[in-house]
Amino acid sequence: MCKVIAIANQKGGVGKTTTTSNLGIGLAKQGKKVLLIDADAQGSLTASLGIQEPDRLEITLATIMAAIINDEEIKPEYGILRHEEGVDFMPGNIELSGLETSLVNVMSRETVLRTYIEQQKDRYDYILIDCMPSLGMITINAFTSADSILIPVQAAYLPVKGLEQLIKTIGKVKRQINPKLEIEGILLTMVDNRTNYARDISNLLIENYGSRVRIFENSIPMSVRAAEISAEGVSIYKHDPNGKVASAYQSLTEEVLGNE
Ligand code: ATP
Ligand code: MG
Repeated sequence: MCKVIAIANQKGGVGKTTTTSNLGIGLAKQGKKVLLIDADAQGSLTASLGIQEPDRLEITLATIMAAIINDEEIKPEYGILRHEEGVDFMPGNIELSGLETSLVNVMSRETVLRTYIEQQKDRYDYILIDCMPSLGMITINAFTSADSILIPVQAAYLPVKGLEQLIKTIGKVKRQINPKLEIEGILLTMVDNRTNYARDISNLLIENYGSRVRIFENSIPMSVRAAEISAEGVSIYKHDPNGKVASAYQSLTEEVLGNE
């Protein structure tokens, strides 16, 4: 059985892309077949997997979604790239923003990405979707395709208000389009253990959401080693195998596997 997890938070820079690549590669290291999908026009996931200029790629998620909108047949492996650390990925780039605008007038505009993902499900154990920092149509497409949503929250800002809106949107998609949709959990990222602030945020999250939403036991520490990997094109397991961030993403991987 394939599990589809969207990594989402409309707040920018909270660690969505870093989590998508390192959880994905973590799952692949555990022997799982993994497809990562870059659903962000910034192409950060694509870049962090070693493609230096995502905008020069010819076949991306935008190409695939356009083909589906035009009712064209595509082979399941079409345009999928492979990373040296054992994950496949469907790249994304700037063309997704044009596609997002054109979705407005499309029949079944919420389910275009789901049509693609349904084709991939028998080829993978996990499909992770890196969402853009917005709750626009492409993100709604990701929620419509997903079994669950993993929400990274940066430990350095008070997340309550933005999270409320996110959880509301997830609830709406669940009620109206995708009844099986669940929240995988809230993941605290960029935790600076030298301050008490992270603990305050963590307590605040538990107080406000603990009864409704699972909060991952593992959080991801702040480390410049993690910030370096987007330019390196490799995972934290390769860049800094003995560091605290590698070990945190490894533990997160185990937690996610435990949810199977
Ligand atoms: P966006 O909303 O723009 O898509 P994002 O939520 O995907 O952003 P990332 O790109 O993963 O967030 O991370 C934002 C920045 O923080 C990046 O420069 C990344 O390298 C850095 N970063 C991610 N995780 C950590 C960490 N644990 N410690 C320090 N820096 C980190
Ligand atoms: Mg990102």
